[in-house]
Amino acid sequence: MTDKLLLILDKEARQTDAEGIWPARSIQALRDSGLMGLTLPADAGGGGAGMRQFAEAIEKIAAHCASTAMIYLMHVCGANMIAASSSPRRAELVKTMTAGKAVATLAFSEKGSRSHFWAPVSRASSNSGSTILNCEKSFVTSAGHADFYVVSTGAIGAKSPIDSTLYIVEKNAPGLESKGAWNGIGLRGNASGPMSIRNCHVDDNARLTNEAEGFKAMMEIVLPWFQIGSAAVSIGIAEAAFAGTVAHTTSARFEHLNESLASALARLARMRLAIDSSRAYLDHTLLRIEKGAPDAMLFVLGSKATAAEMALAGTDEAMRACGGAAFSRDLSVERNFRDARAASIMAPTTDALYDFIGKAVAGLPLF
Ligand SMILES: Cc1cc2nc3c(=O)[nH]c(=O)nc-3n(C[C@H](O)[C@H](O)[C@H](O)COP(=O)(O)OP(=O)(O)OC[C@H]3O[C@@H](n4cnc5c(N)ncnc54)[C@H](O)[C@@H]3O)c2cc1C
Repeated sequence: MTDKLLLILDKEARQTDAEGIWPARSIQALRDSGLMGLTLPADAGGGGAGMRQFAEAIEKIAAHCASTAMIYLMHVCGANMIAASSSPRRAELVKTMTAGKAVATLAFSEKGSRSHFWAPVSRASSNSGSTILNCEKSFVTSAGHADFYVVSTGAIGAKSPIDSTLYIVEKNAPGLESKGAWNGIGLRGNASGPMSIRNCHVDDNARLTNEAEGFKAMMEIVLPWFQIGSAAVSIGIAEAAFAGTVAHTTSARFEHLNESLASALARLARMRLAIDSSRAYLDHTLLRIEKGAPDAMLFVLGSKATAAEMALAGTDEAMRACGGAAFSRDLSVERNFRDARAASIMAPTTDALYDFIGKAVAGLPLF
C-alpha cells in the first residue's frame, strides 16, 4: 500500500463524509494500485493474497476512509464469490476485476427478511429457458456505482427459506434500479441504498451457484471474507479514533494549570488495550483459518462481533476524551464514532452473531 494512495484517501475522506458522496477518486486510486484483484486467484491473474494480507490492507484503508474500506470490502466479497463460481464467464469476469475495470458488490439483504440475509423472501422463476429475477433489496453498497451485483434470491421452487441461488447481474441489466439516495449517519460515502430487480431475465451464464446452493456459498465463501474484512475495518476505525484522541489530548491545554488533558490517560489506556485485544483475536482467527482448524468458523463469527463491540466502545471513549471539540465536529473522531456504528448492525448483526455463537457452544443447530 503506497503513501500516495493513503494521501488520496485522507484528502477525500472529509468531503466524502460531509457530502455523502460515493468516493470515486479514492476508488480510482484503489484501482490504480492493483488492489481490486488482490484476493483473486493467481491462476486467473489475481494477486492471490490470503485473508491475512487482505485484513492488513483493509485495516489501513479504514483508518483513512471507512466508507472507501466498506466499498472495498463488498467488492472483495463479491469478487471472491464470482471467482469461486463455475460460471462459464468466470475467467473473463475475474480478468476485468483484476485489471481494476469493475467494482463488485453484494445485493443480499431484502426488505422482507431484513438482516436475515440467509433467507431471501424473493423467488426466481423460469420461462422458456430463461430465469427471471424479482427482488427488493434493502441495502446495497455501491448501489448505482458497482459494475457487478452478486444477487441472492430464493431458488426456483424453493422448499425452505434458505434454498437460495446466487447470480451476477451487471450494471446495465434491464430491471435493475437504484431506489433512492443514501443518507446514513456513518459510512456516508457508501451509497448503500435500496435497489429493485424487476422482471430481470438472466441466462445460465449469470448463475454463480447451482440451483438452491446459494446458502452454502454465502456461508462458506462470502461470509469468511466479510467477517474478517469487517473486523479489520472496525479495528482500522478504532485506530484512527485512538490516534485522533492522542493528538488532541496531548496538545489541548488547561492554561491555568499548565497541563494537557491528563484526565484522558485512563481512556487512552483502555482504548489501546481494547484495540490490541481485538487485533489479537483477529490474528488468532487467521491462524485457525490458516491451519484449517475445525473450530475456525466459530472464531470467524466472533471476530466481527468482538471488533464491532470494541469499535463502538473505543470511539465512545474517544468522544468523551475529546469533549466539546469532538462533539462540535472539530475533530475527525466524530466521523470515526459514526462510522463505527455500522458494523454491529450489518448482517450478520452482532445480536445474530451472539445467537449463532451461543447455539454453537451449546451444541444446538445454527439454523
Ligand atoms: C452501511 C451499510 C451497508 C450495507 N451494505 C450492504 C450490502 O452491500 N449488501 C447487503 O446485502 N446488505 C447491506 N447492508 C444491510 C445489512 O447487512 C443489514 O441487512 C441491515 O443493516 C439490517 O437492517 P434492518 O433494519 O433490516 O435490521 P433488522 O433485521 O430489522 O434488525 C433490527 C435489530 O434486530 C436485531 N436482530 C435481528 N435478528 C436478531 C436475532 N435473531 N437475535 C437478536 N437480535 C436480532 C438486529 O441485530 C438489529 O439490532 C448494509 C447495511 C448498512 C448499515
